[in-house]
Amino acid sequence: SGARVRRAQNTKLSQYLERGVDVKFTDVAGLGKIRLELEEIVKFFTHGEIYRRRGVKIPGGILLCGPPGVGKTLLAKAVAGEAGVNFFSISASQFVEIYVGVGASRVRALYQEARECAPSVVFIDELDAVGRERGLIKGSGGQERDATLNQLLVCLDGFEGRGNVITIASTNRPDILDPALVRPGRFDRKIFIPKPGLIGRVEILKVHARKKPMAEDVDYAAVATMTDGMVGAELANIVEVAAINMMRDGRTEITTDDLLQAAQIEERGMLDKKERSLEIWKQVAINEAAMAVVAINFPDLKNIEFINIAPRAGRELGYVRVKMDHIKFKEGLLSRQSLLDHITVQLAPRAADEIWHGEDQLSTIWAETSDNARSAARTLVLGGLSDKYYGVSNFWVADRIDEIDTEAFRILNMCYGRAKEILEGNRKLMDAVVDTLVEKKSLNKQELIDLVELHGCIRPAPPSV
Ligand code: ADP
Repeated sequence: SGARVRRAQNTKLSQYLERGVDVKFTDVAGLGKIRLELEEIVKFFTHGEIYRRRGVKIPGGILLCGPPGVGKTLLAKAVAGEAGVNFFSISASQFVEIYVGVGASRVRALYQEARECAPSVVFIDELDAVGRERGLIKGSGGQERDATLNQLLVCLDGFEGRGNVITIASTNRPDILDPALVRPGRFDRKIFIPKPGLIGRVEILKVHARKKPMAEDVDYAAVATMTDGMVGAELANIVEVAAINMMRDGRTEITTDDLLQAAQIEERGMLDKKERSLEIWKQVAINEAAMAVVAINFPDLKNIEFINIAPRAGRELGYVRVKMDHIKFKEGLLSRQSLLDHITVQLAPRAADEIWHGEDQLSTIWAETSDNARSAARTLVLGGLSDKYYGVSNFWVADRIDEIDTEAFRILNMCYGRAKEILEGNRKLMDAVVDTLVEKKSLNKQELIDLVELHGCIRPAPPSV
C-alpha cells in the first residue's frame, strides 16, 4: 500500500550501510497487532508529506523492546525493506570505546551517512549499552560513554519530525535508559516485542519452512508445543538443524521427527548456555570438590581423572570422573571396603552442604548422589556384606525389609559421619579446590595433585564397620 520512496543513490563507500536489505513484513511472523504499529512507521516514509501537512509530528526514534532473538533487528530491516529506504546499522556496544571521542565521532559519521543517503532507517542495536542513565558508571569509561550519549542526543534532535531519517533502536532494558533519551522528539515511541506464544511459534516455524523441502504432513503444532519459551532465532535454528538431519540421512523431505529432534538439541543447548551466578558456580564447585576430596582418601577411588563444573549436555551440574577398576566393578568383585568408600563419596556433597552452608541452609543439589549412596547401602546389606548380616543374603523375604533398611541406615549414618570428618579436616584443601574450580571450571588430575601437595590432605583412619 502506498508509494515507494526512491532510495538515494550513494556512490561513496559507507561503513554503516547494509546493502541489499530486502526483508518484508511477511518474513517476520507471529507479530499480531504489533504489525500495525510498524506499518505506520513505514507510512512516515511513504506518506510523510501528508503527516506533515496535517501537523502530525513524526517521531525521531522508535524503541523496540524485548528479549534477544525475538526479531527486533529483523523488524527494523523489514521497515526499511517495506518502505524501500536505506538501512544503516550499528551496535551500541561498538560506540563504547576506551578512547575518549571515538564513540561520539562514530555516531556523527553514522548520521552523516544516513542523511546523505536519505531516506533511511538508522538501527542501533543494544541501545542500553550506551544509553544507560548517565552518572551510573564511574571512571573514564563513563565519561566516554557520556560523550557518546550526548552526541546521539544531538543527532536525534537534528532529525526530529523530518521523517527522512528515522532511528530505530533495540533494547532489552528500556527501564535503565537515560531519561533524556526517551523525551518527546527522541525515542518517544516504544514497541514491546514479547516472546512468541504457541500460535506465534507455529507461524515462525512456517516462515522458515517456506524455502525448505518440508514433508506435506509436518505437524507444526507439535513442534510449537515442544518449544515453549523459545524465540524466533531459536525456532529458525531448529528448522536449519532439521534440514541438516535430513541431508545426513540422505532423505529429500524434512519430517516432524527431524524438527522434534532438532528442538531437543536446541533446548539442550539453551540449558548449557544458561548463565550461572557466582553463587551457583560456587555451590556446584563445593558439590564436586567434596566428592573429589573425599575420594582421594580411598585407594580404589583416588584415581580422579578430572573434575568439571561446566554444564554439559545431559549433566546439569558438574561431575567427577574417577578411573575405577572397571573389571572388578563389572564382575561385582568390589570389596566391602570399596563399597563403603563409594557410599562415603556419594554422601560427601550432602556433608559439604551442611558444613559450608549450615544445616538450615541446605539445598537439594546432592539429591542424586544421596540416592546413589542409599542404593549402594542396600546392595551392601542385601549382598551379605554388612557387619550385622555378614554372609546372610536371603533378604528377598518381604518381611525383612525393615531390617534391611535399618542396617542400611546405620551404614549410611556411619559413612556420612566419615565424610564430614574428612571434609572438616581438609577445609583448606576444599577451599583451594573450590576456588580453582570456580575460576577455571575444571581441574585435571595433575592440578588436583598439586593442590593436595600444597595444602596437605588429612586421611582419617578407616573405621570398622
Ligand atoms: P533480535 O534483534 O530481537 O535479537 P533478530 O532479529 O536478530 O533478533 O533475530 C535473529 C533471527 O531469528 C532472524 O534473522 C530470523 O531468522 C529469526 N527470527 C527472530 N524472530 C523472528 C520472527 N518473529 N519471525 C521470523 N523469524 C524470526
